[in-house]
Amino acid sequence: MTLRDDNRFTIGAVTNAEFKTLSTEKNGSTAGEVVSRLRDMMQRGELSPGDRLPPERDLAKMLGVSRPTLRAGIRSLATVGILVSKQGAGTFVADYAESPMLDSSPLQMLSDLHGFTSDEMFEARLALEMSIAGLAAERATSEQMTLMAEEITGMYASLADPTQYLVHDMQFHQTIAAASQNRILTALMNMVATILFDNRSKTVHRALDLKQSAEQHHNIYRAMRERDPEAARRAMHDHLIETQKAQRLEEKRSSKKD
Ligand SMILES: [Zn+2]
Repeated sequence: MTLRDDNRFTIGAVTNAEFKTLSTEKNGSTAGEVVSRLRDMMQRGELSPGDRLPPERDLAKMLGVSRPTLRAGIRSLATVGILVSKQGAGTFVADYAESPMLDSSPLQMLSDLHGFTSDEMFEARLALEMSIAGLAAERATSEQMTLMAEEITGMYASLADPTQYLVHDMQFHQTIAAASQNRILTALMNMVATILFDNRSKTVHRALDLKQSAEQHHNIYRAMRERDPEAARRAMHDHLIETQKAQRLEEKRSSKKD
């Protein structure tokens, strides 16, 4: 929202050179240009996590694009999780301090297009989450440990409600990812895990033994408490392998019945 001393265009300062350049490009402007313009602003620190974008009309004017073009640009950044639109409040730069999300739809699309197998998806998750578990065992704060324990309590409390169980399961893994304090691994894990959890949500009501699954999570948690990275990696490994087996069984049961 400031005019920088190098006189480059920023929000609120719409009369300088760069704005004129943009205006002349008006006819050729596309959503892609809107994306790169907003990305530039993020790189220069003119837009930070949590900031609200100026009203659509003002921003369209500043960037020299039509409102539909601006909207398309904003939509594509919202799709990848960079911007968040909040009903009635405007559009914000996403602010995921601990647990950044990368939208999984590009990966899902690639997967549909090229037929990624669920084994590949599991393998990717396994690689990411074993690393994450090892780091989290070393770095988790006591608040994060408490959150993990609460999710496990939630799992035991919802053994009879698989959908609810899965919510706690997902939150447990996200808490561990946040505890790894590596936001890149966290973003990648969230992207991959979302697809797997989406798939699982279609079959989990046929789950045979959620108690066993809850116990696996407890093992992971125990390794965290003991600050034992190797044990944490191993417990995560065993849990994900068992999860994969369980999901396969559920899929089989569902294809028999449907
Ligand atoms: Zn789990």
